[in-house]
Amino acid sequence: MTKRPADAPHADAGEGRRRLPVVRSTASSTPLPPLYAAWLDELIGAPTPAETDSTCEDCAMCRLPPVEERWEPSVKCCTYMPYLPNFLVGGILVDRRLRGGASVRARIEATDGITPLGAAATTPYRALYRQSRAAFGRAATLRCPHLEDDGTCGIWAYRNGVCATYFCLPVRDEVGRRFWHATRELFAELEDELAVSCLLELEVEPEVIAASLRGRDRHHEAARDELGSLGGAVAVPDRRRVWGRWIGRERELYARCFEKVSAMRWTDVSSRCGPRVSARAAAVKQAHAELVSTSLPERLRLARVQVETVRTEPLVLSLQAPGRFRGIEAEQALFDALTRFDGRTIDDVLAGLARDGVRIERATVATLVDLGILVETQGADSASGATHAPAPSTRRRR
Ligand code: SF4
Ligand code: SF4
Repeated sequence: MTKRPADAPHADAGEGRRRLPVVRSTASSTPLPPLYAAWLDELIGAPTPAETDSTCEDCAMCRLPPVEERWEPSVKCCTYMPYLPNFLVGGILVDRRLRGGASVRARIEATDGITPLGAAATTPYRALYRQSRAAFGRAATLRCPHLEDDGTCGIWAYRNGVCATYFCLPVRDEVGRRFWHATRELFAELEDELAVSCLLELEVEPEVIAASLRGRDRHHEAARDELGSLGGAVAVPDRRRVWGRWIGRERELYARCFEKVSAMRWTDVSSRCGPRVSARAAAVKQAHAELVSTSLPERLRLARVQVETVRTEPLVLSLQAPGRFRGIEAEQALFDALTRFDGRTIDDVLAGLARDGVRIERATVATLVDLGILVETQGADSASGATHAPAPSTRRRR
């Protein structure tokens, strides 16, 4: 969920085929909010990987999948009401340049889901969201309140970890997906921890914090009365119990939380948070090492890919692994070469191809691995020379 402002960088996605796995990193192309980007850069010891294929201004999910599975361009992946921890709410409130500030102030004024910990989705929204998985990406009723009419995110620089790490087409496909998933879990964990830690520092009463935490836990559960609340019967909690001595100064509390958190480096975050954040951080480092690794499995075989004819003269085939949105287009010679990956070592296969006058770069092999077209295999039985690819069909892709 990465609706960028119009001036943010992006790249054409093509039509879902033949995208080389390039992990680029520059400070100006970070896909994350500035605060989170700085923390992640410090944690992984490198600039945050850029994501160029999730082209939000021309939503990839609104044009790459088969027509009946495409998402609705007016909402795209922003059929979601984000939980915003108190420090992010504070950042939004104090940043006067932000277009989406009014949408957050409106959430605060509506009070449903609003506690010292932050802004949770409203009760009716949660009920609808849980009952409507198929509506994700499509239903206007689930539209995020911070999504601007021009399709950009009104709170881009302060969006939460879920929004910030969602990329429908990570550059290195599954490897990228694993990295962003680990990063999402880290941000979710530290958002919870930092939000509580701010309240403790600001000496919010223990019973107020405890009540907020109970409300936050409920946010994670499928509360039984949610569907009933769709009729409008949302219980309004006593505001004094929700805010304690901060009643009437809610916005000031959020701003103070932001003041504290925005001054933190990753080392401060890490020392402030507990072992759960440390464990998530370690998982992110490991996933990042895999993301930037150029090593390949020793043995590969051609996966069971969908093969369809793109053109007949000369023959061009499209190859795509099941469940993936991206594949490659290959002329007959490349397709034939791929069938030679039968479980022998990559070096053996490439040497055999070279003897026959066919040259395939290891970078191309790496791309095919990322796309799930070549898959790791091991053991003697897989070196039988059998291919798992179906014969090319003549059915045209949509
Ligand atoms: S579905 Fe993908 S391309 Fe579309 S807005 Fe979301 S992240 Fe961007
Ligand atoms: S805050 Fe809303 S508009 Fe922004 S990225 Fe998240 S879901 Fe989309």
